Amino acid sequence: MTKSKKQRAVFLDRDGTLNEEMGYINHASRFILFDFTLEAIRLLNKAGFMVFVITNQSGLARGYFDEKLLDEIHKGFLEKARSEEAVIEKIYFCPHHKDGVVEKYKKECNCRKPKPGMLLQAQKDYDLDLKKSYMIGDRYKDVQFGQANGLKSIMVLTGYGLGEYTYEKKNWLKQPDYICQNVLEAAHIIQKVETSA
Ligand SMILES: [Mg+2]
Ligand SMILES: [Zn+2]
Repeated sequence: MTKSKKQRAVFLDRDGTLNEEMGYINHASRFILFDFTLEAIRLLNKAGFMVFVITNQSGLARGYFDEKLLDEIHKGFLEKARSEEAVIEKIYFCPHHKDGVVEKYKKECNCRKPKPGMLLQAQKDYDLDLKKSYMIGDRYKDVQFGQANGLKSIMVLTGYGLGEYTYEKKNWLKQPDYICQNVLEAAHIIQKVETSA
C-alpha cells in the first residue's frame, strides 16, 4: 500500500444524512441517529478516511436554538460514536444566515454550504487531499458543494434525498458520482472503490 502524506477525508452532511430529518433540531430529543450511521463511520475509518461532519445550522442565526444546545447535541453524538469505535474527527457548522435575527450570526458568510468555507477550514486544519475525498449528503446542494470543490459526491436518499431525486433530478446540471439508499451503502461503495483502485 502506498501512503501519501495528505489525508483523505469523507465529509458528511448531518441532518437527513446521519440523523432523521426533523426540521430545525431545537431540542436534543429531535436528534435521532439512523441505526446504520455509526457502522458507516466505522467502515470509512477502516477504509483509511478521516471523517468530518459539515452542517448548516442557520437555526442559530434565526434564534430557534442557541450554541449551548448545539454543543450539547454534538458532544453527545461524538461521545456515542467514540464509545462504539466510530471516529469523527470534527464537526464543522455554519451558524449564519443573511436574514438572521441574532446579530452576531446575521451575515452573508463564506461558510454556509454550498459556499466552501467549512471545507477550506478543514483542509487548513488537517492538510487534506480533497481530490481523493468525498462529500455525502441528502440535498443536491451538498452534491454541488462537493463538485465545486473537487470532491467526489454521493447523494443519499434518506432525509430530503428521495424527494429531491424524484422531482428535481431532471434539473441537475451535473449528476452525483453515486446515488445511494443511505450513508451505509455510500460507505460500502467508497470502501469498494478505494480498496480495489
Ligand atoms: Mg441534510
Ligand atoms: Zn457561515
